[in-house]
Amino acid sequence: MSEEKSLNFIEEIIEADLASNNCASISTRFPPEPNGYLHIGHSKAICLNFGLAAKYGGTTNLRFDDTNPVTEETEYVESIKEDIKWLGFNWTNELYASDYFDNLYAFALELIEKGLAYVDDSTSEEIALLKGTPTEPGKPSEFRSRSIEENRTLFTEMKNGVYKDGEKVLRAKIDMVHTNMLMRDPIIYRIKHAHHHRTANKWCIYPMYDFAHGQSDSIEKITHSICTLEFIPHRELYEWFIEKLNIFPSRQYEFARLNMTYTVMSKRKLLQLVNEGYVNGWDDPRMPTISGFRRKGYTPLSIRNFCEKIGVARRENMIDLSLLEFCLREDLNVTAKRVMAVLDPIKLVITNYDADKTEELTAENGPDEAMGTRTIPFSNTLWIEREDFMEVPAKKWFRLAPGSVVRLKNAYIVKCESFEKNDNGDISTIYCTYYPESKSGNDTSGISVKGTIHWLSAAHAATAEIRLYDRLFKVENPSAEEGDFKSFINPDSLTIIPKAYIEPSLTKVDLEERFQFIRKGYFCLDKDSTPEKMVFNRTVTLKDTWGKIAD
Ligand code: ATP
Ligand code: MG
Repeated sequence: MSEEKSLNFIEEIIEADLASNNCASISTRFPPEPNGYLHIGHSKAICLNFGLAAKYGGTTNLRFDDTNPVTEETEYVESIKEDIKWLGFNWTNELYASDYFDNLYAFALELIEKGLAYVDDSTSEEIALLKGTPTEPGKPSEFRSRSIEENRTLFTEMKNGVYKDGEKVLRAKIDMVHTNMLMRDPIIYRIKHAHHHRTANKWCIYPMYDFAHGQSDSIEKITHSICTLEFIPHRELYEWFIEKLNIFPSRQYEFARLNMTYTVMSKRKLLQLVNEGYVNGWDDPRMPTISGFRRKGYTPLSIRNFCEKIGVARRENMIDLSLLEFCLREDLNVTAKRVMAVLDPIKLVITNYDADKTEELTAENGPDEAMGTRTIPFSNTLWIEREDFMEVPAKKWFRLAPGSVVRLKNAYIVKCESFEKNDNGDISTIYCTYYPESKSGNDTSGISVKGTIHWLSAAHAATAEIRLYDRLFKVENPSAEEGDFKSFINPDSLTIIPKAYIEPSLTKVDLEERFQFIRKGYFCLDKDSTPEKMVFNRTVTLKDTWGKIAD
């Protein structure tokens, strides 16, 4: 059955533009400010911009919006590039708004020459005061009527470093009583004696976002400049600059940003979590950053599918984190290699199995035959999960209990004969007998069992630290709650199991591999692993358990 997917509203606009020859081909851009790592919200913008260009045979530039020298760092530039590539996208050109500082300066001078910009000596408080409110008109500053010549001289002096930070600004001369507050003579250049990560000390004046963004789009001949809804009021200004400067008519379109439950998504807040030590860096697996998800074991495909599923809307909404986890499980279920690991071990001894014997048993690597098989060592002493044994079994208990039979995955059926406790009263060893003719794949025992459990041969198992993650916040929308968002951090977002047992096959894996520890969840190797100590992250549980715990 073929299903025609309906177009989203931006695709409709693009198809109409192409059909009417409004543009011959499309060009989009992804414009991150390099002041932090990319988060899952950015991946929506990335998938959208790159996806549209791919669909309609266009181009996508990666443009760093680096007009604010104070907050931007090269580390962020590198991480952003890495994340976009990892998601599976390639940009046409790597560009920087700072590359256009000369053009932007020339545009500013052009506005001055046209009588459409002026230098204002007012303080920021004075400017704010005269700006009015949405219901009250603004008033002109006393500097609004400066001559073109005076403005040209003062602006040149601003550029030449004659003035200190905040002494003067350049403003567009539009309309102080405009209903759109952003049109009330917005500031377009400010003085900032600061070192810039690319232009170093060449400039001490920097363009404001609104003056840089649209003009950069125009310089690059971006046809469809896609941004989030909060930029709707900026569109009028965006178009005003294009019209007055008579430059390439890029058009701005707005879509709803991605908001997701149990997390925060503003770089400013994420930076606080990093700087104040709530997490271990931007790529902490609890962070909603792309690098955090990658380290936790997410796949690029799962994130792209998620972005596809949530679609493109014109109204804000809140997406459930479970949907992202659903997309992840969907992918890992078919791609992750199945292995065995015991996270909370107790010993199981098979009394009728030769203590000197080791068998190499065959196990399938996954649901798909093409994933092949591997061998796992079996012997008389095994590790099994503590939770797979009950001294006094509950109703419908199909796992181990005194007298019960259970299948050891890929191995034999065993019967629990007795058990031992340590001085604390905890079960320490379970004694079983096995049925030699019940070997998996060749079972002639005729015994029927209802439960299958996983295990590892104690003499052969390797060890690893296991990190289990839970949601970073206890509440659905920490930003909407009263008080500091950090007070809603989930104190149990990380649980460390210092020593778990893993299959010997797991001692030679790399960071990109994904595993299902059968019955336990999906896991991957963490970059903290060393030859002495392996560390695995739980990527996601096998089922969505949060709903159950929460109620
Ligand atoms: P933040 O508020 O998290 O700092 P930002 O919008 O300031 O985000 P930018 O680096 O300016 O971050 O964003 C680059 C692009 O990504 C912009 O086009 C922006 O609209 C888009 N974007 C940012 N956050 C989201 C989100 N949550 N959902 C969709 N797109 C987003
Ligand atoms: Mg921004």
